[in-house]
Amino acid sequence: MVKIYLGPAGVPHSAKKKSTIDGVKTVKELGLNAMEVEFVQGVKMSKETAEEVGRVAKELGVRLSVHAPYFINLCSEEDEKVQASKKRILDTADRAESMGADAIAIHIAFYGKMKPEECYGKIKSELGEVVDSARSNGIKNVKFGVETMAKETAFGSLDEVISISKEIKGVIPYIDWAHTFGRLGGKIDYEEIINRLVKELNLIHINSHFESLIFKNGKYIDEHIPIDNNTPPFEPLARELVKRKDISISLICESPELERDALKMKKVLEDLGYKFE
Ligand SMILES: [Zn+2]
Repeated sequence: MVKIYLGPAGVPHSAKKKSTIDGVKTVKELGLNAMEVEFVQGVKMSKETAEEVGRVAKELGVRLSVHAPYFINLCSEEDEKVQASKKRILDTADRAESMGADAIAIHIAFYGKMKPEECYGKIKSELGEVVDSARSNGIKNVKFGVETMAKETAFGSLDEVISISKEIKGVIPYIDWAHTFGRLGGKIDYEEIINRLVKELNLIHINSHFESLIFKNGKYIDEHIPIDNNTPPFEPLARELVKRKDISISLICESPELERDALKMKKVLEDLGYKFE
């Protein structure tokens, strides 16, 4: 049966203290088993703290992943920004490795003035360098997740992230189900996507985000709202997951209702017969 790791993107709202370690403890108390550590405003955590977070998470059986800073754009026209982006990815991967996190989520680039193919080539070379440099600096296990993005102006269609993952060892798609749903104009075939990840990339674990998106002026925009909006619906994904035997998955709840919605997702899965240990 599929193994599901479910939890919030960041410290749960109900945590009494807002530290990452308290976040991990609260996740466990809530009956969840995953947490994404958010470095979205910058990598400020020390290596020592990262190691401590990792110890606590391991002891409590909470699977960790990490979100890299938003200020990353490998297709910037300014080389300075590209270099700063590479450092932010590397720093994120370094702390993630210290924590024992399996993967990092990256908003890799905006096309800007580049054509999508040009941006693709640029990412291939720049991200390739980051991964090489990580591996030669002892960052052995962390996978570099290129996130699927909702905005048409951002690199991150499903095809793009699958394709770049085939080219660079250590790079995987970080599937944001809602972003992908939005980019496809409000439809999603979970089974087809999971089949592609398994068949084309031999993935045995999927890293992913789940939330709903706002529908405004005739299109889905990248503003996260609670999952009961059903944009996209969670239940068909849950149904697909409980029948699979070939994968495990991290489902990170990026709704503003972090743990409330993660617990709703848990209930849906349990009602379909899935048992969390
Ligand atoms: Zn993201």
